[in-house]
Amino acid sequence: MITDKNGDKWYKGNLHTHTTDSDGQKTPEEVKRLYRDMGYDFLALTDHWHVNEPEDFDGMLVLSGCEYDWMKDGCYHIVGYGLVDKPALVRGDMPQKCIDEIKRCGGVATLAHPAWSLQRTDDMVRLSGVDCTEIYNSVSGYPYSARPYSGLLIDIATAMGFRAVLTAADDTHFYKDEVGRGFVYVRAPELSRDAIINAIIKGDVIATNGPFITWGTEDGYFVVRCGEGCKYVQFFSNLYYSPETTKTGAPLYEARFRLTPNVRFIRAEAVGFDGKTAYTQYCYFN
Ligand SMILES: [Zn+2]
Ligand SMILES: [Zn+2]
Repeated sequence: MITDKNGDKWYKGNLHTHTTDSDGQKTPEEVKRLYRDMGYDFLALTDHWHVNEPEDFDGMLVLSGCEYDWMKDGCYHIVGYGLVDKPALVRGDMPQKCIDEIKRCGGVATLAHPAWSLQRTDDMVRLSGVDCTEIYNSVSGYPYSARPYSGLLIDIATAMGFRAVLTAADDTHFYKDEVGRGFVYVRAPELSRDAIINAIIKGDVIATNGPFITWGTEDGYFVVRCGEGCKYVQFFSNLYYSPETTKTGAPLYEARFRLTPNVRFIRAEAVGFDGKTAYTQYCYFN
């Protein structure tokens, strides 16, 4: 947990995790212990088609979760967590039904690793009720796979009307080197299921590979602050070109993008000297 300059608390968590309850390589007990020992405040176990029980694991909040995958006319992996009831789903149920059932059970519905899934943007726009999507998923990257980053795909879908909170997760299976390489900080008044879920739905989330950043709109600018200093910040908007797209520094503690009337949406990525990136949420304008 990190306390920022305003005194707000940001809890560290992983929202997409596998165990031997599906295709992961470690038991649920081993996984919970490992994340607790790494200093995580919360963890969602999201085994394929297996709903776990929520619990307090030695001070770490464990959320009830599940991943529903569907591969027919496109590939969809829908992760649900924060469940207070068990979704009535069976293998083969349609992605939209999975989302609807997760929501009925009080969970957060996440469209997982859209780049890995080669998600079609028109399909993303058609889904209703998606709360979050993963801009970064480490098991979808080197060395196990090759498409960890979904930013471009989500930007195109966003330009088409798709709206979702951005998260990062390691989606760990304990295959090779993915553990801890994507996670979230969530700003919440306390460490409880309700507080964490409500904050995620609101978008009080930093998706990151490591750096801690804050952002907001101030005096007609979108402003990103990197407390520890970063190598550069890049802004992603609906504009094809802007001279303000990249800000560099040595190190850079703050970067600004002027919000001209033609900016309809914007987000940013802050890249550290070690190459690790933090991702803001989108700000939307009409
Ligand atoms: Zn998946
Ligand atoms: Zn997964």
